[in-house]
Amino acid sequence: MSEQEAAQEGTKLLAKTLTFGLGNPMGFKSKGSVLVELTEDQRKAIYNGLRDASTVVARIINLLNSREYIRQIMKVPEELVAQFKPNYSLVKGPLKRLGIEEAEQVAGSVLSQTFALGVKPDFQGEHGKGLLLKGERQIPLHRTDGTHPIPQRATETRLFQVEKNFYVAMQVFAETWAKKQELPSGWLAFPIKVKPRDKTMAGQLLKTIGGEWKLKNSRLMRNPRTGGNRWLGQIVVAFAPEPFKKMTRSVVMGIDLGVNVPACLHISENGKPLPWAMMVGRGRDMLNTRNLIRSEIVHIIKALKSKDSPLDGKARAIYRDKLRDLRKRERRVMKMASQTVAARIADTAKRHGAGTWQMEDLSPDIKTDQPWLARNWAPGMLLDAVRWQARQCGAELVMVNPAYTSQRCARCGHIDPQNRPKQTDFKCMACGHEDNADKNAARNLSVVGIEKLIADFKAPNGAVQ
Ligand SMILES: [Zn+2]
Repeated sequence: MSEQEAAQEGTKLLAKTLTFGLGNPMGFKSKGSVLVELTEDQRKAIYNGLRDASTVVARIINLLNSREYIRQIMKVPEELVAQFKPNYSLVKGPLKRLGIEEAEQVAGSVLSQTFALGVKPDFQGEHGKGLLLKGERQIPLHRTDGTHPIPQRATETRLFQVEKNFYVAMQVFAETWAKKQELPSGWLAFPIKVKPRDKTMAGQLLKTIGGEWKLKNSRLMRNPRTGGNRWLGQIVVAFAPEPFKKMTRSVVMGIDLGVNVPACLHISENGKPLPWAMMVGRGRDMLNTRNLIRSEIVHIIKALKSKDSPLDGKARAIYRDKLRDLRKRERRVMKMASQTVAARIADTAKRHGAGTWQMEDLSPDIKTDQPWLARNWAPGMLLDAVRWQARQCGAELVMVNPAYTSQRCARCGHIDPQNRPKQTDFKCMACGHEDNADKNAARNLSVVGIEKLIADFKAPNGAVQ
């Protein structure tokens, strides 16, 4: 590829979602960006208001989904559907008649953003629509229990820094309602929790504040892992990716097959490790998609094996056909997901010119204690996809014995099973270095000759280097 082509390749903007924990909300005056401390009572009103806002958002999206269901699946004529207008200001009345009174207290910008998202129904694709029409699938219902994310536009989202702390402010409530609750305004500001060791997040927030990365939209959501009033913030940013570079053998990318993510990447340039490591793919989404099909398969197998109500010959044949189709679909879904992950791995390699890829050997005869996601995810498929991508970009794929790559400290080289106190965390018993376990393993895998380093390691008490 010529340099010019490489430059053109790099001009398309990429989008990325940043997720972070939030501290207690503060009041906010958007004019001048002033933070205001709140009383316990004001905070209580806010948490109740947030629950209401979340419920309103979920109800509106459910409403819009039903509307699209009527139009696209039931094929009700357009002039009848048109009475349900996809625009908040036009349906203010109908919302009230439907009993969604709380919509009055939510900021108009939140409602507009909800409508903008809601008009894209959850049932995209002909296959999904077919299933809905046959009644084999239900329209997804969004939860109205106060856990639904509250979306906001970029224009009503502010990201800023006061001293060393980061904040995100959003206009969540209608001004009239905020006034009644004696809040400074309909805006809320949340301190962003950034772990001191997480240099990546701080860097990304600074790029967004500085305008290098463009803020697209944001949302507030209840943290699903903790009960009570713990909230998460998400912002979607767009940025110009690094242009593609010439592939160089001495730029080495380590690919770790993660525990929680399909893959984790780290790059060393001529032996110098880059500060960041990167997760690729969404493990939970991949497994969820697959499990949906799995549960249908299990259901059919049970029906075929059932002794209480044996299926007659014809029904059996239908069930067998269905089973075969589902298995095909499962493979297709898994293959597509593997290819997506591999494509992103290749993209990162091209942007850094990584001409050598070091990856764990996935052959079944290689023993590993790692319960990596790929083990549940057809390792052969992922390997095939990565191999294909490596060939396409002219990178050399080096298979590394995975033994101890997850137990070795990427900073000091100490190897100890106790370095892994928890599946997701790494903490070195020798030097105290802490990291995400997948990232630590990826850092090890980007070291040239890592197998020999591990084999030569002498534990412990000696001078560990
Ligand atoms: Zn260490």
